[in-house]
Amino acid sequence: MALDTADATDQLLGEGDIPPVHEVNIAGASPFLLTADHYGRTMPRALGDLGVADSDLVRHIAWDIGIAGVAERLAKMLDAHLIAQRYSRLVIDCNRPPGVASSIPEISEATAIPGNEDLSAAAKDMRRREIFDPYHGRIGATIDARVKAGKPTVLVALHSFTPVYYGEPRPWHIGTLYRRDTVLPRLMLQHLREESELVVGDNQPYAVSDITDYTIPVHGEARGLVNTGIEIRQDLITEEAGQQQWAERLARILRQIEATLHEQGMS
Ligand SMILES: [Zn+2]
Repeated sequence: MALDTADATDQLLGEGDIPPVHEVNIAGASPFLLTADHYGRTMPRALGDLGVADSDLVRHIAWDIGIAGVAERLAKMLDAHLIAQRYSRLVIDCNRPPGVASSIPEISEATAIPGNEDLSAAAKDMRRREIFDPYHGRIGATIDARVKAGKPTVLVALHSFTPVYYGEPRPWHIGTLYRRDTVLPRLMLQHLREESELVVGDNQPYAVSDITDYTIPVHGEARGLVNTGIEIRQDLITEEAGQQQWAERLARILRQIEATLHEQGMS
């Protein structure tokens, strides 16, 4: 198995590989700009399976299970622009600053990723250049264009989380993920808590940090956008029926929030 094929070539993605960036509704009218850093689990052909068993490549360590189906539906329901990344987070994690250990993980949860061990700086840089940079470049350029056009922009970063992590069950159905924004997470929490059947996490199971996040700090906070992350538990959205139900719920809530932000002159 030639795990370090990438070292020997100038390019990671080649013939037969799909582009990393996937977009829906580029000219969507909604103020919400949706992102999905962990949308896909595609592997560049040159990297094979990174030495990871097929049974692990369908687990949460490779992608955010179910979020693609929610994101696609939500984008259509809201007429919102969605920017998503199709390659597995095991190749390069698009919600980590490049250079941190979890950016190109040698181990994820308890699974070793042999194809990420002892990578040269050039091999790491290639993954960044061909997957991470085009994705974040596209988000940055989109925000630039929207600002220039005077189009209100509210960033919603979509994620899903594994129901059990290191053997620990997680009770939340959905959580908000935020740090500096004092507007949108509060509104999201308020609306979600009105749905009495839901266990809602306030910065659970994760909170935003500069080591464990990239999209919210860089595109949301640094650009001064109203923003939040949303984390949905994966077992609720594994099947299409759940994806549809959660997209409908989020669309309904985000439409209400849009009206509130509009009244407050924030979108
Ligand atoms: Zn994620």
